Amino acid sequence: MPRNNQDRLVEKKKPEDESSPPRSSIDAVLNFVVPTEFVDLPTKGKFYSKDHPLHNVDTVEIKYMTAKETDILTSKQLLKKGVAVDRMLQSLILDKRIKIEELFTGDKNAILIAARISGFGQSYDATVTCRSCNAISDQSFNLGEVKSKEPPEDANYGENGTFFITLPQTKIRAEARLLTGLDEKRLSDKSDKKRKLKLPESLLTDQLKSVIVSLNEVTDRSTVEEFVDVMPAQDSNYLRNEYDKMRPDIDLSYQFDCEQCDSLNDISIPFSVNFFWPE
Ligand SMILES: [Zn+2]
Repeated sequence: MPRNNQDRLVEKKKPEDESSPPRSSIDAVLNFVVPTEFVDLPTKGKFYSKDHPLHNVDTVEIKYMTAKETDILTSKQLLKKGVAVDRMLQSLILDKRIKIEELFTGDKNAILIAARISGFGQSYDATVTCRSCNAISDQSFNLGEVKSKEPPEDANYGENGTFFITLPQTKIRAEARLLTGLDEKRLSDKSDKKRKLKLPESLLTDQLKSVIVSLNEVTDRSTVEEFVDVMPAQDSNYLRNEYDKMRPDIDLSYQFDCEQCDSLNDISIPFSVNFFWPE
């Protein structure tokens, strides 16, 4: 997982300027550089297009959380907009060409976990509910043990961050891409708008239209969109399943035995309020 970047801790001292007042003690403070670490990206950079700074790059360098990020997390104004966490993560990424909303969800989640560990440690306490008896219990999760979920070994990648899936019924070779956080937000905004206007909802076809880049190498958008509208259900179900298998993420699955009823629960580690705001 994360590796400490020791080089940055030993920053070179600037030569002293004799005309200025002695300020070696101030320099000692200012020369302290916040430690950074490299976060392994679940996508390994494979799904970013050629013009993206993370194309084929498998790590991203982030700094440890500082007082500035704590300020962002506690800003009432940002919390209201629900953007505090994104703004904080953006502040941690050293390469400013990388925009948090352009990241794939799995990569963003990996950065989220690394940031939490750097700011508040690996141990994370949250309450969980038993699925059998609804008893609520406290669990302590070790975030240092969270692993990545990777695409299948035999995945068929294209050149520009895309991948190929042959549809079982029509035998068409579909080229697909992963959706970024921004793509997902646009789709849900579009869906909300349709609901408000009382128009028929079409989230599934809208998603498929965004995911499919080409069909048998035909990239013309209107052809792709017409195909999606008449696509056999068998093919669309298959495409969605294969897309989920390809989508890299972090594995938040977790098992616990309920103390009340002894049943084994398979859950996901919950992102509760005290993830970044521990009591
Ligand atoms: Zn139980």
